[in-house]
Amino acid sequence: MVSAYRVTYLISSAFLFGAALLAVLALVRLWLGLPSEALHPMEQAVQIALVVVYAGLGPRVSGRSRGIVSVVLAALLLVQIANWGGEVLALEGALAVATGPAAMLALLAIAALLFMQEKGVLAQMLVMVAVLLALMAVISEVFEVPTVQAPNSILSAGSGLMLALGAFLRNANRGFLRVLLSRQLLGQQVRYLLLSAILGPLVIGLVFTQIFSESLPAGAVFDMIWILILFQALMIAGGAYVAAQQDRTRRRLERKLHDLALHDGLTGVLNRASFDERFKRFQKRADLIGEAFSLVLVDVDYFKKINDRAGHACGDEVLRELAQIMAGGLRSDDVLARIGGEEFAILLGGADGAVACEVAERLRQAIAAHGWSHPDLRDMQITASFGVAQWQEGEGVRHLLDRADQALYGSKDQGRNRVTTAALSM
Ligand code: GH3
Ligand code: MG
Ligand code: MG
Repeated sequence: MVSAYRVTYLISSAFLFGAALLAVLALVRLWLGLPSEALHPMEQAVQIALVVVYAGLGPRVSGRSRGIVSVVLAALLLVQIANWGGEVLALEGALAVATGPAAMLALLAIAALLFMQEKGVLAQMLVMVAVLLALMAVISEVFEVPTVQAPNSILSAGSGLMLALGAFLRNANRGFLRVLLSRQLLGQQVRYLLLSAILGPLVIGLVFTQIFSESLPAGAVFDMIWILILFQALMIAGGAYVAAQQDRTRRRLERKLHDLALHDGLTGVLNRASFDERFKRFQKRADLIGEAFSLVLVDVDYFKKINDRAGHACGDEVLRELAQIMAGGLRSDDVLARIGGEEFAILLGGADGAVACEVAERLRQAIAAHGWSHPDLRDMQITASFGVAQWQEGEGVRHLLDRADQALYGSKDQGRNRVTTAALSM
């Protein structure tokens, strides 16, 4: 199945590609001396550089590339600040990029730095403002309104918009976009607010300029519109930022609850319910591809004595440590669960009775040889008894547990600290 993340990633790539194409085209026109109304080579170059940065900016920017990208971004940022200063100080030539594009590119550079610092939500908010600035640049080009966006050209304005949109979608998995695209009420509100905040002033302003075109200079109206939109967008982005943070907290809590529901609170290994669930998975796999699997039951020997001698808290500590010893002796796809007070169950995928018996024997030895650090346990040898049963076709979890339990009982009967394998059929 094609995931939504994959789709946004592809669309984002298309936008970034388009941005680079337009920026290169603008540069070529400039180079060939074609008429291009105030095209700015610096702006195009920065746009291309940012396309490269965003195209390479995945969730896994790390190590050396992270350092290199950071330096490039810092340099771009400095260039933008210089550009900005050039505009404010009314400089001519190389440093005279207009405030709008300079601010937009600076925002994208800061956002890219934030993305790399794992501040995805904040970065996404800045990118959204950059998108709006880029949108305003395009609109001011289309309607030929001289504003702070000028000097510009439709090529560079289009390239800027594509860059900003590409950057926005590049991190579609981040919290801010998640809220924006969410089907919940909050997402709907944010979408509605954004749309009305942009379209409202824009439509009213454009109608206004058409009707009162003689009495009011279009540029002044347009300046008001874009300042209004920017202000609203900032407010909404701020609200969405808070919402995204709350969303993150909620999802972290949900994950924690989910985790608590699956694991045993004392030892951290899986609990009984998870064990049953995993058994079903093993069973399904065995039915499907005929792979053998086995169950190992573990019961600590004379555990009551440990509690009596060293106290319940120490007994708990022993259980925790035992779980660690066993987990350390198992493979990552084996299943270790605590299914009773001092009873553990292990599911071994791909293991027949003989292999499972070897694994159990290894665990038995590891437990018996373990040196316990608690002062009350120093001269004590803690052991466990094991019952092994290979799953048989059509067998349910209860039956398998019963057979392994019988084998475990055999181990206890014969003096404990040993492994017994259940007979194949019962
Ligand atoms: P055997 O060798 O026959 O298994 O002897 P045993 O003493 O281990 O067996 P029994 O089943 O009689 O006792 C188990 C003890 O485990 C009883 C209970 O107090 C203790 N126990 C059960 N759950 C916990 C727990 O979470 N923490 C601690 N500290 N003790 C527990
Ligand atoms: Mg017991
Ligand atoms: Mg016991």
